[in-house]
Amino acid sequence: MIKPTHLQLHEIKKILADGQISPLTLLNEIYQEIDEHQNLNNYVTLTKNLAFQQAEISYERIKKGNARPLEGIPIGVKDLYLVKGELATSCSEVLRDFVAPFESHITKNLWEKSGAICIGKLNMDEFAMGSSNRTSCFGPSINPWSIKNGKELVPGGSSGGSASAVAAGTCFAALGSDTGGSVRQPASFCGVVGFKPSYGRCSRRGMIAYASSFDQAGILTRSVQDAAIMMDQMIGNDPLDATSAKMPKPNLENANISMHGKVVGYPANWMTIIDESVVNAWKKALNIFADLGAKIEPIELLNFDSYLSVYYLLTTAEAASNLARYTGICYGNKTKEDIGSAYNKTFELFGEEVKRRIFTGLHDLSSENYNLEYNLGLQTRSYIKRQFTDLFNKIDLIVYPSSPREAFALDNVFQNPAESYHEDVFTVLANLIGSPAISVPIGYGKTGLPLGIHLMSEPFSEELLISAAKEVEAKADFIDFLRSYHDK
Ligand code: GLN
Repeated sequence: MIKPTHLQLHEIKKILADGQISPLTLLNEIYQEIDEHQNLNNYVTLTKNLAFQQAEISYERIKKGNARPLEGIPIGVKDLYLVKGELATSCSEVLRDFVAPFESHITKNLWEKSGAICIGKLNMDEFAMGSSNRTSCFGPSINPWSIKNGKELVPGGSSGGSASAVAAGTCFAALGSDTGGSVRQPASFCGVVGFKPSYGRCSRRGMIAYASSFDQAGILTRSVQDAAIMMDQMIGNDPLDATSAKMPKPNLENANISMHGKVVGYPANWMTIIDESVVNAWKKALNIFADLGAKIEPIELLNFDSYLSVYYLLTTAEAASNLARYTGICYGNKTKEDIGSAYNKTFELFGEEVKRRIFTGLHDLSSENYNLEYNLGLQTRSYIKRQFTDLFNKIDLIVYPSSPREAFALDNVFQNPAESYHEDVFTVLANLIGSPAISVPIGYGKTGLPLGIHLMSEPFSEELLISAAKEVEAKADFIDFLRSYHDK
């Protein structure tokens, strides 16, 4: 019999609601799983006191027939969400002792309105900058699929701990964040679903910022249905976040829009430059849509390097501005010395990648470079957004791989930072234009590791996106980690 911890979220939801397992028993089993998977280094803090208090409440509510939508379901939380009274480090030395003074909008709703249980905080790249989880001050998180090829593999990033924890069965869903692909790329590497809604769908209040006009909450799960159930609880307007959208809530759990007659575009000019196994997975997804009666059309997008350049130009500038708050006065190393030493000592605590981005951003924002760099980036972003507004008048969905490759080895060395930035070539576009996007496991690459397919649609068309993702998932040749290896 399959272990309760290995079930998908929608399955455990039913079993909990029927009283077949109590939230307290399930919680104990989850902590046992976490214990057995310590080698993955996914959890940087366990929030056991909070979790058992919440499980007690869930137990009572289920008993009284008064269950909330996620009653008693254990959830992991990327360590950049503030959970009141718990550490929130963004996996940086700068915030190593920082205890959250308030609760993020999303997690408050998940615990109080939806009844989910907070089991712990998850490893990530420092300040969400990276695509391998190797920039965390707690050391890297490991991809559970490493067992398959005998070499330690990265889980992707920056939400690497979230993706790895979901794949390994140490939580039923994990909160991630996505500035340029941080839920979708790790989802692809770990063989799970990674969903980022439109910019503005979820409140960013209480999420530690990287690049505010790109940052958006996301979710990692073991199925599209689970991602839909979670996102229905996460979406909602927040008057205290000025960028939060005032839109009617979608009903993603029941999303069921037919693909018949829909137009699916694929950037044919990107097909020539990627590995054959990735192209085959891509073609498989396009065939699934064709079989469902969609019209498949090649589209011409800019060379993907162009999107990447605009992304890194603007996000480094926003990061430099956001991270200017870590001075050692309010946040950071609170030295009793003079202001200059506080600044310097705190700055020294940032990792190499974060420092690089701060300097790059300051360079772009400086008075000499502002017009040629930052301002040009803003104008190009507006141009790209207009191009896609036109495109979405003719095309319903854009489909291409989530990542140009499978998970790579932990000891893989990039020759220069730009090489690591190429990990995001396919994902940054959705953040530039504010579109919803999802990575769904579609098959395996040339070394037998998972590959994800990336679906993107017009801003605020999540119901269409989730309907499409459910169809692809149903016809994909993919068995997740728990079912393919862990149970043997
Ligand atoms: N890997 C990308 C970066 O390093 C995206 C990160 C993210 O989405 N947070 O910027």
